[in-house]
Amino acid sequence: MQNGSYWIINAKYLNPKSELCFGHILVKDGFIAEISQDLPKLFDSSFFIDANKLIIIPGLINSHTHLPMVMFRGLGDSYPLHQWLNDIIFPLEAQWTSEDIYVSSMMAIAECIHSGCTCVADMYFFIEEIAQAVNDSGIRAALSLGLVQSNGDKGLAESQRIFHKLHGSSHGRISIHIAPHAIYTCPPSFLKEVIALTKSLNTKLHIHINETQKEVWEHEKEYKKHPIETMAEIGMFDLSVLAAHCVYLNPNEINILKQAKDVLVVHNPSSNMKLASGIAPISSYKHLNIPTAIGTDGAASNNNLNMFFELRLACLLSKVSSLDATLMSAKEALEMATIIPGKFLGPSHLGSIEELAPADFIMLDVNQAHCLPTHNILSNIVFAMNGSEVDTMIVNGQILMQNKHINTFNEDKIKEQFIALSKKYQFSR
Ligand SMILES: [Zn+2]
Repeated sequence: MQNGSYWIINAKYLNPKSELCFGHILVKDGFIAEISQDLPKLFDSSFFIDANKLIIIPGLINSHTHLPMVMFRGLGDSYPLHQWLNDIIFPLEAQWTSEDIYVSSMMAIAECIHSGCTCVADMYFFIEEIAQAVNDSGIRAALSLGLVQSNGDKGLAESQRIFHKLHGSSHGRISIHIAPHAIYTCPPSFLKEVIALTKSLNTKLHIHINETQKEVWEHEKEYKKHPIETMAEIGMFDLSVLAAHCVYLNPNEINILKQAKDVLVVHNPSSNMKLASGIAPISSYKHLNIPTAIGTDGAASNNNLNMFFELRLACLLSKVSSLDATLMSAKEALEMATIIPGKFLGPSHLGSIEELAPADFIMLDVNQAHCLPTHNILSNIVFAMNGSEVDTMIVNGQILMQNKHINTFNEDKIKEQFIALSKKYQFSR
């Protein structure tokens, strides 16, 4: 189906203004070639999908995650971030093998597909295995190798090698970013080298920023300024920056993000709540028009990759934290998981349903008790749905799932392998 063309007839879909429209969609060579009001002539031999009973919305984009960490789901649930990382996650990660990463990534992607996520921005290690899973499953991904100073030049060389090998691969579905893990693992002298590499490759940078008060205090103690001030001073915001978390920012740091040439803040409400990190100042980002997206973070700190849950939480949390029920509409929340990250991650028009956009969308079966009535489909999507409505997924024109059945890989076999491998990651605390 990748290189062919087919019609989706009787489509009720959300246009780029989030209005529910009706038309017939021609998918060709991975893109939406045409949206017609006239029913196309279909011949016996031509393939088509009748979307009569479904609602079509752009595929959801998870803008910050660590796919393989689904293996650690449920391990070490009640720890603050730094203790959780050092005492639980890092020792578990020392056991990874290539096979474990591939199978865990496939299992994570199955979860993404079933809950409507067509594209992820991921930061982790073993990214060639993750890229293989992205290739085999058919989703879209911006992948990056997490860099820390302790791995120094080796990590930089590896990032460069992977960039040249994989950037733009899998019919353009995979892009490669450069990912200094955080300022506390990549101090300024090393971060400068990472910035230089990112510039030389003309790609984007993905980093955790100001996730906890602790990291901000420690940085301030050592450098007499806040982390984002240091990052700006060494030229990080001359780049396109995917800034995960951004929970604790002073007014000057917020202003730096406002002035930045191309930044995407990623709000991770579940992870920030679960690790008791805090609440990101989404109202400030919104009032200053700082582009903001939504991510699940890894499943070890969430504990799922469900973007419907994250949409609902992001919207509710922003309202209660600002004590302003008008702060974020359902339309604005949905845009944080579609058109806004789509613009940052690309290709052009990713995250919207219109002619020339990549054919990345999901079809929802809304004939379920919790989806009725359909007075306000946007409200239902953000506040009432849970991902169980996702019937069909198309990415780059390829039908990854139909009637809730994944077409591109054997999900049952992956489950069996995943359960078998999980036995070695038992954790007794
Ligand atoms: Zn993260």
